[in-house]
Amino acid sequence: MHERLVVLGSGESGLGAALLAKKNNLEVFISDNNVIPDERKNILIQNRIPYEEVHNINNLINASEIVKSPGIPNNKLIRELKRKNIPIISEVEFASRYTKAKIIGITGSNGKTTTTLLLGHILKKAKFDVLIAGNIGAGFSKEIINRDYQFIVLELSSFQLDDIKKFRPDVAIILNITPDHLDRYDNNFQDYKKSKYRISMNQRSSDFLIYNMDNTALDNLDTKASKIPISLKKELDKGAYYYNKKINIKLNNKTMTINELALQGKHNIFNSMAAAVAARVFEVKDSVIRQSLIDFEGIEHRLENVLTVHGVNFINDSKATNVHATWYALESMDRPVIWIVGGVDKGNDYSTLLDLVKQKVKAIICLGMNSKKIQDSFKTCVKDFVHATDMREAVEKSYALANHGDSVLMSPACASFDLFTNFEERGVEFKNQVRKL
Ligand code: ADP
Repeated sequence: MHERLVVLGSGESGLGAALLAKKNNLEVFISDNNVIPDERKNILIQNRIPYEEVHNINNLINASEIVKSPGIPNNKLIRELKRKNIPIISEVEFASRYTKAKIIGITGSNGKTTTTLLLGHILKKAKFDVLIAGNIGAGFSKEIINRDYQFIVLELSSFQLDDIKKFRPDVAIILNITPDHLDRYDNNFQDYKKSKYRISMNQRSSDFLIYNMDNTALDNLDTKASKIPISLKKELDKGAYYYNKKINIKLNNKTMTINELALQGKHNIFNSMAAAVAARVFEVKDSVIRQSLIDFEGIEHRLENVLTVHGVNFINDSKATNVHATWYALESMDRPVIWIVGGVDKGNDYSTLLDLVKQKVKAIICLGMNSKKIQDSFKTCVKDFVHATDMREAVEKSYALANHGDSVLMSPACASFDLFTNFEERGVEFKNQVRKL
């Protein structure tokens, strides 16, 4: 049969997939439903890739395969194409056909970016040729058009995993599964969980699955891969665990310990263990792993230390868009906290934060639209509760309430779309306002 690849969406990943297809002599067509920016159009024209700016089903139904950008939900068009039995795959599935690299896929509700970058850092320090891609960077397909790598470390969202068919990482990591993004899954938590498990569905007995043993949602993971558990709570005979302020890694009858980390907080101990175990699978030297975990530079918007102003430490955790992430941020605080919280609530249950808030938070600044729910949740345990309509007000009010030795933590537990384009803009605005104090 004549092969015709259709790429849905002309964003970074769609464009990359189309160019990779062209390079491999496939007939390819890009279908978008919006005006394609000139810069991208020029690239398509130069590479003789035809495109459309309004989906026309007639241009799609004769595809032998469709590559779908992870941003496109399961809408009417997708359902129609599925009814016609046209195979729909994700960009990750497509790109993985064109590499011989060892692939490490990292998924979970929280910690994907941190762990992906940490593992990339360790492997680079071990002098491997490494690509970090997936949700991060310029895009998997685009990066392998002109050359291959020894290792590809991929940050994978559940949306990317939904449309894999044969994708098989040599090492898969599932960090945690907590309710988030349930808006995109019809039967919510069960479906969301299944989509994360897909990371391991094609793995073989020679592959590895590193998973969070403390997360009950990950009990009874069905896989052919060798399972390596990680725990912050239990001592293990095999895998990685945290005990006596040390990370212990037991693999292939060898034990290594790590007691110094660049990143703060229990969640980062967990992320560090996951990255270290994965590196250990590829026999990276203990000394390289240890040194990499010490000299890793933190990541913007994730418990990022911004500035200390008259003894008040300002911390940007704008990436915390759910309660789970904020739990870890609060847990890692060792000074009294003025907490900036709020934004678009995706069905948050704040009760899990109550104990930490009681112990650590002296005042709450509620930013944005959802103040009532937050106020109701915490009014019994925090006396000072203040509203702010924008970031300037939030930062100024937090500073006014803080004493020398306190921390101001912006860890909103909510999405940012009420006041900002995305969490990056929210974090940058926080930092700008702090610098103006
Ligand atoms: P992701 O890419 O999965 O969104 P990030 O590494 O960007 O994860 O971190 C997102 C947020 O979650 C940050 O606020 C961070 O402090 C918090 N976080 C990071 N790792 C973990 C983890 N293992 N468990 C819970 N929260 C985490």
